[in-house]
Amino acid sequence: MRELEFTVWELTGCPYFAKHKPVTKEGVIAFTVGAERHKVIQELLRRRGFIIEQAVNYYITYKNTVVLIKGRIDAIDPVNKIIYEIKPANLTMRGIRQLALYRDLYYLDTKQVYDIGFILYRKHGETLRLSFINNMLYKPRLLEMFNNVIEIIKHYIDRDEPPRVSCDDCKYCELRSECKPVLKYFGLNLVPLRK
Ligand code: SF4
Repeated sequence: MRELEFTVWELTGCPYFAKHKPVTKEGVIAFTVGAERHKVIQELLRRRGFIIEQAVNYYITYKNTVVLIKGRIDAIDPVNKIIYEIKPANLTMRGIRQLALYRDLYYLDTKQVYDIGFILYRKHGETLRLSFINNMLYKPRLLEMFNNVIEIIKHYIDRDEPPRVSCDDCKYCELRSECKPVLKYFGLNLVPLRK
């Protein structure tokens, strides 16, 4: 049996871009700053009784390949049963896809349906201002995102290369003027563009 591994991050954006994107100084700085802010917020949440950095690992098998989908949930409120993603206030659709996929993977692992929400942060002077958002008007259906990423994984295995998925990543991608994506994320929907 062949083995493959995907992160929640790559499956909720363009897997081709995730594999080939250039490492830039600006990207490294943005990642480091984001990671530090996450740490500060997670420490606050831990003191409130939240579960932090919960690993989710889920295996599927397709055409003689065992596939691991893996990620880490930023924070879980175990009392109110809410899975949270921590994001900057300028939230993207990709963030919503990630959160929906974490909820689905958690459900598949534990058989418990949790609600979902965001903890959005904004820098204000030296402090971080937090907003808890768990009354989203639109909530993805259970397993909607999981079914999307299964399609992406099948494309990958059928063609033995990471599929090009048109999404928020395209604006940072050097290939955007010449690319022929095979799939497109319209918000939370995944649609085929070509065979
Ligand atoms: S242009 Fe978009 S779809 Fe094409 S490789 Fe880049 S990120 Fe992926």
